[in-house]
Amino acid sequence: MAIVMGVESTAHTFGIGFVRDGKVIANIRDMYTTESGGIIPLDSAKHHREVCEKIYGEALYEAGISEEEIDGIAFSQGPGLPPCLLVGLEFSKKISKRLNKPLVPVNHCVAHLEIGRVTGAKDPVLLYASGANTQVISYASGKYRVFGETLDTGVGNFIDTFARYAGIGFPGGPKIERLAKEGKNYVELPYVVKGMDVSFSGILTNLRQKLKNEKYSLEDLSFSMQETVFAMLVETAERALAHVGKNELVLGGGVACNLRLQEMAKKMCEERNAKSFCPEKPLLVDNGAMIAYLGEIMFNSGIKFSGKEAQDLDIKPRQRTDEVEVIWKD
Ligand code: AMP
Ligand code: MG
Repeated sequence: MAIVMGVESTAHTFGIGFVRDGKVIANIRDMYTTESGGIIPLDSAKHHREVCEKIYGEALYEAGISEEEIDGIAFSQGPGLPPCLLVGLEFSKKISKRLNKPLVPVNHCVAHLEIGRVTGAKDPVLLYASGANTQVISYASGKYRVFGETLDTGVGNFIDTFARYAGIGFPGGPKIERLAKEGKNYVELPYVVKGMDVSFSGILTNLRQKLKNEKYSLEDLSFSMQETVFAMLVETAERALAHVGKNELVLGGGVACNLRLQEMAKKMCEERNAKSFCPEKPLLVDNGAMIAYLGEIMFNSGIKFSGKEAQDLDIKPRQRTDEVEVIWKD
């Protein structure tokens, strides 16, 4: 029986989770926030440094374990913001050294996919829709492959920028979702799917112009934005399902908190006899439990670094999903 800790620090969230035999037994996090938007990497890293010991203590308490019971420490190695990733790495190394327990380097995007298992998915396609990332990924022929992705910004950043143009605070996603419910008229917007990829910059420019035109209400534009952009995401997810011949979709990332996106994903799946899974919110957003969850799987297949090897590990800010060497799956 193994207890693996997971440390998440790729962007604005510092989180620590514990997993024992595939069961999440703790998941604590704290998020760096700003008044007006945009994440300042050095400030976010400072936040992580300030909260890490406290979060660690709370996670141990929630798990009901003492630190001596920890068998391995998994951490988000990338992709992410370098200063933030470094805090997670240094904290993990410190605990690893003190307890003399191995480190397990985990890819953040793959963790979003694999945590889908706790909701019952076995071999899914992940629609990962977060602030900085937008990808459709799945495991196929020995690798986690990216079937589609954004060609410019992440969908969450796109929504937040739209919200900022509209004079709404950060993060814009939840507020836009509320406004969209009041929207009644669909306003035509560009629909940009290129092969299996999506792009948002043209839609943003178009929306910015429409925001200045009194003809359109913010409610209608929010509604139309969601309908258009979520249809693009769901279309690429559907193509990926068809392409790899799978019948399970898992949602991940902060934008997947949006009920309209969840509904559209579910409908698409129903129409093609597939199933849509959406982890509960604490596992959907950035969190330490998903790092611990994938970390335990990797740990059990022997991917662990001790002693000097552990202390020599580094962050991988630009690690791509398909670069991850997979030896823990058959
Ligand atoms: P993440 O990067 O995964 O932590 O997700 C953060 C992003 O999710 C931000 O861009 C938020 O605006 C966005 N977000 C959060 N809740 C919602 C929502 N209900 N609808 C749309 N976007 C959301
Ligand atoms: Mg994430």
